[in-house]
Amino acid sequence: MIYPNEPVQLKSTYISLDSRQIYEPQDTAFFAVRGLHHDGHQYVESLYHKGVREFIVEKSAWNGPLAEKAKSWTNTSIWVVANCIETLQHIAHVHRMSFGLPIVGITGSNGKTTCKEWLYTLTKHKFQVVRSPKSFNSQIGVPLSVWGIKAQHELGIFEAGISQKQEMDRLESIIRPEFGILTHIGEAHGKNFANEAEKLEEKLKLFRHSKKLIYRATPATSAIVIATMQKNNPTCELISWSTTDPNQSIYVYWKITGKISQLKFQKRNQSEPFLSIQSYLHDEASLENLSHCLIQAHMLGMSNEELTVAAMGIKPISMRLEIKEGVRNNQLIDDSYNNDLDGLKLALPLFKRYEEKKKVLIISDFIETGIAEEALYKQIAQLVENQKIEKIIGIGIQIERNKHHFKQINTYSTAESLVESGDLTSLHDSIILLKGARKFAFEKIVNALETKTHCTQLEINLDALQHNLSYYRGVIGNNTKIMGMVKAQAYGAGAVEIAKILQTQGIEYLTVAYTDEGVHLRNNGIYTPIMVMNPQVEEFDKMVSYALEPEIYNFSLLAAIDEYSTNQNKNIKIHIKLDTGMKRLGFEMSDIPQLMDELNQMPQLWVVSILSHLAASENPKHREFTLYQINQFKEAAQAISDRLGYRPLWHIANSAAIQNYPEAHLDMVRLGISMYGISGNSVEKNALENVLSLKTYVSQVKNVTKGETVGYGRIGQFEENGKIATLAIGYADGYSRALGNGQGSFEINGQLCPTIGSICMDMCMVDVSKINGIKEGDEAIVFGRKIQLGQLAKSAQTIPYEMMTGISSRVKRIYIRE
Ligand SMILES: *Cc1c(COP(=O)(O)O)cnc(C)c1O
Repeated sequence: MIYPNEPVQLKSTYISLDSRQIYEPQDTAFFAVRGLHHDGHQYVESLYHKGVREFIVEKSAWNGPLAEKAKSWTNTSIWVVANCIETLQHIAHVHRMSFGLPIVGITGSNGKTTCKEWLYTLTKHKFQVVRSPKSFNSQIGVPLSVWGIKAQHELGIFEAGISQKQEMDRLESIIRPEFGILTHIGEAHGKNFANEAEKLEEKLKLFRHSKKLIYRATPATSAIVIATMQKNNPTCELISWSTTDPNQSIYVYWKITGKISQLKFQKRNQSEPFLSIQSYLHDEASLENLSHCLIQAHMLGMSNEELTVAAMGIKPISMRLEIKEGVRNNQLIDDSYNNDLDGLKLALPLFKRYEEKKKVLIISDFIETGIAEEALYKQIAQLVENQKIEKIIGIGIQIERNKHHFKQINTYSTAESLVESGDLTSLHDSIILLKGARKFAFEKIVNALETKTHCTQLEINLDALQHNLSYYRGVIGNNTKIMGMVKAQAYGAGAVEIAKILQTQGIEYLTVAYTDEGVHLRNNGIYTPIMVMNPQVEEFDKMVSYALEPEIYNFSLLAAIDEYSTNQNKNIKIHIKLDTGMKRLGFEMSDIPQLMDELNQMPQLWVVSILSHLAASENPKHREFTLYQINQFKEAAQAISDRLGYRPLWHIANSAAIQNYPEAHLDMVRLGISMYGISGNSVEKNALENVLSLKTYVSQVKNVTKGETVGYGRIGQFEENGKIATLAIGYADGYSRALGNGQGSFEINGQLCPTIGSICMDMCMVDVSKINGIKEGDEAIVFGRKIQLGQLAKSAQTIPYEMMTGISSRVKRIYIRE
């Protein structure tokens, strides 16, 4: 059916603007948006063949052969509109207006996403909350976010960002917030506005119909907020707060002691605070964001007790401000969070806490501030002028060519050239603030200045992980998706961090073993679809509310999920697991006819994928069996798909099968261990990079005389006089006892040192008799450089999987980028 005119009334539940991100084609409406570099109309035909049955297309592009061909498409709705984005916005507006839930709208220059996420953290146990995913705050992101509102939601939290004049009106009509939060106003988003005031006025349009607006009263903002709101929406209650001015609506008191901060909130005219909360946050910017959120949550009816508990769930973002101990009694503040003038303004007061130290500032070029270069560096120079800064170092070509604005500054074009110059070695007893945009790789500077920490740590090289993922993308091509296996803490590497990298790399699916693992990911910003391999009936509720998708492997689970979805009157996405020879979980081949009959009676279950697992894809000896499994699977999947009338994703390949069995790639592959560069295949061994390195250090070095024994049971014997080093790792860290008595070795100063005696719980000893110059504090590498994880696992008579997942939680995980 072709609808040549608006209004559009969508039949589908889901909306997509991205042809690669469609998981339920039958139930997704595709908007053919045209951008600078791409045109959604190009994908319409192939999406039709993939099962999409609803399209929104633009008049000016809807002509020629495609439009002709589409006339014959059956059961397909094509809405021809003037402008897809405007249509999307209109539909979102109508959708929003059909719900009466309270909605909080957030705008400002810094802190929108932070406030949205923190307000969600504060309120999520009390309300069913719908919020913008990630930082979806644009002309497209906002309507997509708002489209997520469902009948069960009790509170909505949406952020709005603008880069041009006139944009906020449209976002306002889509969000229509009852409550408003104006976050920090600063330099960001400067390009298209004449001045601060104009930008702020435009932002305030978001609150044109709001009943209450929370903002921090500052000399720069108060007058504009009051005047603009008086003009736009005089009945809106303005809730201004301040840490200095008791005449504002709310007086906020912060006290930062050690790791914990104390916050109190008191209304004007009242003698007692209405909220008294503790927090782990301790920098000005975070406390400002948190204050907005606490006031808002209080207005939504949350009590001091509820907020006390919830606020402890908000932790500082370690990326943001790390205080590190440096060499030569230096301390480092590594603040690479927002590299703009405002970020610098917020960071400079940190110096005040270190009065006794010399102040050093290392900054990079400021990128994308929207301020003309000359003016920008003049402003920066002014800002730092009165801060009694001993030494300023600039990195980048812009700052280099603007160095004349600064009274004194040393400049280098790159972080590397600074490190090589030796300039850093002159720094001592200083507090060093580093503010560098990511591309300037300030890690190199931090690395040169930081004291090396002494602890057993698992280093996870995220660049190498990214490399390996791209390698596999290349191998499987564009038509096969990747499911990242992040079960068991992503094989010990840290589920959240690994999932985040995979998510930013656009991985299509993630898989965990248990529901709680999935909930943990959702609570940490993972919005990629997640499959759960061992779903439990008691957890269906949790699963559905966290958008987790169960793997269904037998008839009793199928009956349970069917009953649940019928009772709840909800459509539920499931994955069907077949057993083609692994003999673990899954429907047997003989179950297929019954399975098809039952699925046919359960239209509210949406089979997103059909999968099976290979038992021996890594071993060429079992090639015939593996091919048999693949064929069995394809046949069964075909039969099920035919019967369903739509085509779920088919997948059977684990890591080893990707290289060994191209015929098993199908629609998706399940990548696990090889993400970390571990593979038995020689082609892959060359192509992949090592991701994991486990390191410990030497606690003590001792001489041992002939006849003395080493460790428990006196098993380690010395035939000659010798020397041992005691290392800070034992079986409680995951270093197996099987590696004692020379079965395992460590790499110290580039040399291999075998274990001697038994492995203890927290320590072990290595023979360093033949090695000179080993001293306390030296690094000892367990695996990752000369010693490969695969080799070491073999020596311990196990496999890399067990070794990785056995690294205990007390071993610190460190994520590095090169
Ligand atoms: C763990 C797992 C994988 C991943 O296996 P790797 O060998 O690590 O690639 C794939 N599929 C299923 C069902 C799994 O349980």
